[in-house]
Amino acid sequence: MATRTQAKTTRTARKAPAASAAPVAAPTHPLPSYLDPNHLGPWGTYLAQVDRVAPYLGPLGKWVETLKRPKRSLIVDVALRRDDGTIAHFEGYRVQHNISRGPGKGGVRFHPDVTLSEVMALAAWMSIKNAAVNVPYGGAKGGIRVDPRTLSLGELERVTRRYTSEIGLIIGPSKDIPAPDVNTNEKVMAWMMDTYSVNVGATATGVVTGKPIDLGGSLGRREATGRGVFTVGAEAAQRIGLTIEGSRVAVQGFGNVGGVAGKLFAEAGAKVIAVQDHSGGVSNDRGLNVPKLLDHVAATGGVAGFRGGEPLTAEQFWSCKCDILIPAALEGQINAQNAGKIKARMVIEGANGPTTPEADDILQDKGVLVVPDVIANAGGVTVSYFEWVQDFSSFFWSEAEINQRLVRIMTEAFTAVWNTAQQHQVSLRTATFIVACRRILHARDMRGLYP
Ligand code: NAD
Repeated sequence: MATRTQAKTTRTARKAPAASAAPVAAPTHPLPSYLDPNHLGPWGTYLAQVDRVAPYLGPLGKWVETLKRPKRSLIVDVALRRDDGTIAHFEGYRVQHNISRGPGKGGVRFHPDVTLSEVMALAAWMSIKNAAVNVPYGGAKGGIRVDPRTLSLGELERVTRRYTSEIGLIIGPSKDIPAPDVNTNEKVMAWMMDTYSVNVGATATGVVTGKPIDLGGSLGRREATGRGVFTVGAEAAQRIGLTIEGSRVAVQGFGNVGGVAGKLFAEAGAKVIAVQDHSGGVSNDRGLNVPKLLDHVAATGGVAGFRGGEPLTAEQFWSCKCDILIPAALEGQINAQNAGKIKARMVIEGANGPTTPEADDILQDKGVLVVPDVIANAGGVTVSYFEWVQDFSSFFWSEAEINQRLVRIMTEAFTAVWNTAQQHQVSLRTATFIVACRRILHARDMRGLYP
């Protein structure tokens, strides 16, 4: 690729007038991420995590390189006819990290900072998450390097459809099943399902999950991740002798994940004493009225200005006196600057990647139990699996059945991780990787290498 770029540059240079002193215009777009050898980014973090578990893989270790190479990485040009008639181009990706245990599964992210490295890492973490909860999927992820806030609704639909068509080569109900992620939602999933269906000439509801209920979506999907956070949180609490009833809970991010988790902890008798989001923070030592706070967020867009508590700064939030801390907003929120101030006995990672590796070490040294994202927020993909199963059979379950199955899967998964951590005296993060990598590589081993 680099050679082709160089060749293009050389050809352009030859055509330019020899004596031209015109300044060279800065490139309008940065070098594509996959051409930048210095940009290992999150993929580098993932590789380090695999290296950490390699000694625990026993004879399966001979396959460990499989985990360090995505099975398939597709880069597509997503061309868009803008509303004003001009044509714009965006880089799109779909990475299938591993499909040894089943079809690829993972979300699609629309964000201007999406890179191939990021999508590779997110796809790999989906392999780990899906294997950790033992759903029959490999790991995949996709994205478009675009800021959806700069697109009209029509442009967003055309970008989504063009991208779906371009990755249509490798997705499908039994090949790779996308889902919503950052800046994508059930509307985007409906367009993806429709585009794929039009291209194959049959309605294929099972090609994506996270769809609207009327298009084959599942009851309980919206609450699934928060419910999973609560389920594994309660399991972990029990094991460290922490009673949920009366415990003090702090939540960062009060959206889909944090809002539902906070509500379930409050219903179980915990006191949600502090909540922080993009708008600000609020605290109440006697426990916030969570249903009222959720109504306030729905009405105003954030927790700031809630009358049932005192305003709270970000610094106060991280150092508040609590038993359970749930980061459920963005990545990198618990870092070397604030990890030392955390007073919680337990952190449950609702968000993806909320704790930096340095902070992870600080928390471990302080004796804070960290329930990692790859198990804590796997409730969402678990109910996505239920959605896919229901679409295949065209038979839909009640919400009670879904929640019951979700709790069973999450509890079993957490028990396996906890026992592994005890056996090897490692963190729950490393234990989750051990359980998951063993499952993936066992499948790889049984399938053998073709040819
Ligand atoms: P959401 O958009 O519903 O809510 C995000 C929350 O984060 C909001 O309350 C927002 O105010 C808050 N937030 C944003 N920027 C912030 C900042 N700078 N400081 C503090 N708070 C900030 O999103 P969500 O679906 O709840 O996802 C939250 C996290 O959980 C993300 O990391 C996501 O990848 C992860 N996750 C979500 C699911 C799911 O099913 N929704 C599944 C697995 C993982």
